[in-house]
Amino acid sequence: MKNVFHKVLLFLTVSVLVFSSLGTAQVSASTPFTDVSSSDKEIIYLYERGFINGTSKTTYSPAAPVTREQAATMIGRALGYDGAPTKTSFPDVKANGYSSGYIQEAVKNGIITGDSDGTFRPLDTMTRGEMAFLLSRAFNLLKTSSVYFTDVKVNTNANSQYTAINKIATFGITNGTGGGKYSPNLAVNRKDFAAFVARGLNPDFRVVFQNAKIEEMTVTTNDLNVRKGPGTNHASIGKVHTGAKVEVYGYNGTWVYGKSGNLTGYISMDYLAKAGEVKRIVVIDPGHGGNDPGAVANGLQEKDVNLDVSKRINTLLQGKGISVLMTRTTDVFISLDDRASFGVRNGADAFVSIHANAAGSSVSGSETFYSASTDQRSADSKQLATFIQNRLYKAMDHPNRGVKDAQFRVINSNPLPAALVELGFLTNSSDAQKLASNTYKDRAAKAVADGIEDYYNWKQSR
Ligand SMILES: [Zn+2]
Repeated sequence: MKNVFHKVLLFLTVSVLVFSSLGTAQVSASTPFTDVSSSDKEIIYLYERGFINGTSKTTYSPAAPVTREQAATMIGRALGYDGAPTKTSFPDVKANGYSSGYIQEAVKNGIITGDSDGTFRPLDTMTRGEMAFLLSRAFNLLKTSSVYFTDVKVNTNANSQYTAINKIATFGITNGTGGGKYSPNLAVNRKDFAAFVARGLNPDFRVVFQNAKIEEMTVTTNDLNVRKGPGTNHASIGKVHTGAKVEVYGYNGTWVYGKSGNLTGYISMDYLAKAGEVKRIVVIDPGHGGNDPGAVANGLQEKDVNLDVSKRINTLLQGKGISVLMTRTTDVFISLDDRASFGVRNGADAFVSIHANAAGSSVSGSETFYSASTDQRSADSKQLATFIQNRLYKAMDHPNRGVKDAQFRVINSNPLPAALVELGFLTNSSDAQKLASNTYKDRAAKAVADGIEDYYNWKQSR
């Protein structure tokens, strides 16, 4: 299998090379430059069209920085300007120099501007930031997109450097210098500038921009706005909800710029949790439901008790700033596997299943289960079960049957720290009477909610 796979890979590699050289068309791979190789397709492309010259008869000097007059000349030739030397409005551009005609026409077309002091600085090095202005105007680029570079300050003003860089990245002229950066203050070299001009002229050379994902965060509240800019004064473009993942591309104060679902924009970090950070999003799973009533005794159906107490837990937890995801809020049947995977599918970080017990009529008390194993999840599950149980039996004024290991499916096949709570025995008249009363249902709910809060506080303090 391995050898076959390698052959396939090799074949693919060769095919890509063949097709890409066909795709960029009519590249004869010949320049007189000893410092340009056949893989420098953009330089060859521009040379063959007479848009660029070497720094000597046999050298192109690809690593040398581009001066502002060289840049203006290359762009001018690419756009078909008449480059006949002429007098310009700049005192520091010689009328008889090779670049004067291109500079003058570029100024006339609004592609370049001089300095505020009226000079052009023809021999100064061009930065990547200046290049963005030049190219966005030269190719008349209007479209912007959700492109984001971590080292370019956000300024959505039409004439900002941010907007110019966004336009050329959106068009496929640049994909940055790596790691989510654009490096606006870096000098452009002659090889890169040739690549940028070639990409502006010919779609075959263009690159696909992808925002660099720095990290993934999780939304910890419902109805969280995704905004056009980093602040509540910016318009909302949509909302995200508890458990949603956010692919983070960059930071702006207490805001992140990133993508969640089909929304890309700014989201307040106050409502996002980092990977590994305690999110305080818990699943409350009311056991049974629909055609599965669970235990039935003393006029009570377990599925109803479970749902009633779960709703009370939900209300109490929200008052504590803990987000709750309910597996059901009505009398419906849900499979055990759907319950077990529900939390991880929806971005939660703990799971608590609510049940009531059945046995002989003399047996009473509460107990909480976790699934024992050697991993961290199991250790966390035991803590979660213990924090809940330590409060529950006291609140219910009945026997403490303890924290126990059991391989119930909703907790042992659950990827999250998980506990299964047995509130009391419906088959015991005293327990049943309590679970029928609002007072004890509130007390049970408060005990479970407080236990969950204890767990998160413990988890966060570690
Ligand atoms: Zn049950």
